Amino acid sequence: MSIEARLNTTLDRIKEAAVRGEQKHEEVRLIAVTKTVDIDVMQQLIDLGVRDMGENKVQELTRKYEALGNKVKWHMIGHLQRNKVKYIIDKVDFIHSLDSYALALEIEKQAGKINRVIECLIQVNISGEESKYGLTPKATEGLLEKIKDLSHVQIVGLMTMAPYVDNPEETRMYFRDLKILSSTLEKKYGPTATMKYLSMGMTNDFQIAIEEGSNLVRVGTAILGERNYGK
Ligand SMILES: *Cc1c(COP(=O)(O)O)cnc(C)c1O
Repeated sequence: MSIEARLNTTLDRIKEAAVRGEQKHEEVRLIAVTKTVDIDVMQQLIDLGVRDMGENKVQELTRKYEALGNKVKWHMIGHLQRNKVKYIIDKVDFIHSLDSYALALEIEKQAGKINRVIECLIQVNISGEESKYGLTPKATEGLLEKIKDLSHVQIVGLMTMAPYVDNPEETRMYFRDLKILSSTLEKKYGPTATMKYLSMGMTNDFQIAIEEGSNLVRVGTAILGERNYGK
């Protein structure tokens, strides 16, 4: 199948899930996860109308940014080390992987230098799996409390990765839990933390995530085919 056909199928599946989740499909934003694919493929996606790209490695994002610049919005979706923030701070539009106070302070410092406000999502380990990055729900609230006064870090939502399971239906409860957490925190911390985005759902489970309220899905394989992501 061509990339165009895969993309169209993905967009159709987003629409169907949005109907089931009683969301407007235009409000569900698709991030094409382009890790490991090259610029020519990304350009193809741009020509097909994709405007949000997700990358999980600083070096790769920087290299691709040099080629594509602001033609797209850049989403940093992978674990971010503090010492690398300075390389992407002038490039990224969203950071989905905020998972510590120290990282927030570094983003604040680097963004302050260039007078940018970075939209950040807190990564939550909602399933409690040991292998996952992200904060517990309790620590998420603790972080919000601590970073209330940072002026260059704008919290716009929560992100999670569900456990990989054969039957995607089993991920539903995690997405539901994240949605509940998001609503609770919004009541308490809005408008400091607007919680307008729920970044959840990947190839295996994005329809279920949308049914449960996701409006920012990160999809790689369904659009670009199997790749060897490595570790
Ligand atoms: C790779 C990756 C995705 C996309 O995964 P697919 O299963 O290929 O859709 C989404 N989110 C994160 C954080 C990733 O690293």
